[in-house]
Amino acid sequence: MLFNQQFLYTPGPTPIPERVQYAMNKPMIGHRSQEFPILLEQAATRLQPVFGSDNPVTIISGSGTAALETAAANVLEENDDVVVIVTGAFGDRFASICEAFGANVHRLDIEWGKTCSPDQLQSFLKQLDKNIKAVIATYCETSTGVLNPVHELGKVTKELTDALFIVDGVSCIGAVEADMPGWNIDILAAGSQKALMLPPGLAFLACSDQARKVIQNNKTKRFYLDLNRYFSSYDNEKSTPFTPAVSLINGTIEVCAMIEEEGLDQVIKRHDLLKNMLREGLKALELPLLTSDETASPTITAVRTPTEETKKLKKLLLDKYGLSIAGGQKKLKGEIIRIGHMGYSTPYSMLQVLNAIEMATQQLTGNNVLGKATAKAEEVWIQHV
Ligand SMILES: *Cc1c(COP(=O)(O)O)cnc(C)c1O
Repeated sequence: MLFNQQFLYTPGPTPIPERVQYAMNKPMIGHRSQEFPILLEQAATRLQPVFGSDNPVTIISGSGTAALETAAANVLEENDDVVVIVTGAFGDRFASICEAFGANVHRLDIEWGKTCSPDQLQSFLKQLDKNIKAVIATYCETSTGVLNPVHELGKVTKELTDALFIVDGVSCIGAVEADMPGWNIDILAAGSQKALMLPPGLAFLACSDQARKVIQNNKTKRFYLDLNRYFSSYDNEKSTPFTPAVSLINGTIEVCAMIEEEGLDQVIKRHDLLKNMLREGLKALELPLLTSDETASPTITAVRTPTEETKKLKKLLLDKYGLSIAGGQKKLKGEIIRIGHMGYSTPYSMLQVLNAIEMATQQLTGNNVLGKATAKAEEVWIQHV
């Protein structure tokens, strides 16, 4: 069997559109040239609607975790009290980063596979009775596939505290709604290799004016990730303090053009459709979904693998169908598989992944399921054509 293509369904990295590949192949330019400030300003301002930000988006070379560390390093000082809502492995990572900076981390641990409700945050903040510097939430928790109700969590945060509300949006920004002022978000972090259809390598941060003030007054030692350097370089010369990843910034501009052409509203609707197609298809195969329909993220879907046969799915999909999906992380290792459907993903992508899953399921179980999942997904799609 010839596969000249790897079919990438991991929740990051994700497939790159051809036109973005081309944009990234443009000849190199010097970042102290006359052209570079124009490019950086394009990327920083055209990303604003995607982040729902009033301010230009800061671009740092690094993976998504660099965005999280940047937020922590620039906001937290030693012994600051910080609340981290942990709904899975990435909330857990953010808590570890805060601990590394010497903060007193108050973890609001939620059962994995569930979202944090506004009531849960409200009672947690009420019983804490501390001067909280920041409340941190994960928008899409990639390890379980839930989408936390960050608009409600931001509201509760501001009603009960003077804290900054910091959101990890790495695995959904570019595919979901975001409204920083409306939802009381002070820092929204993202990465290039998820819903933003780029290779790994860029960390994005959008900051509110209140966040900028806190960052300015923060005494924590930092250098490369010091946001004040990025703000002043951008404000004064539309540049970056250190050599930027120029090719990835060219790619970012092309991604912005694609989102503008499709329309952000349509991009968001498309991801909702992808989620619904995939979930209905998987239900038809009687594969148990980890998350409820109400809390499911439009960018990633997790399925339990309770039987010997389902545990073999991931390897069979890769070996025989050329299709990569992800397994579980930490406490869900060996318990689930995860399918990414964000960014450069279309209804055909969902038919492709369901097609491979139903064939692999039939091979593994001997049950006749060919066409069952894809038919259900087509029924969902046809209502939107
Ligand atoms: C992917 C991801 C990150 C960052 O991971 P990197 O490997 O550093 O890019 C952070 N948070 C969430 C929710 C993610 O999905």
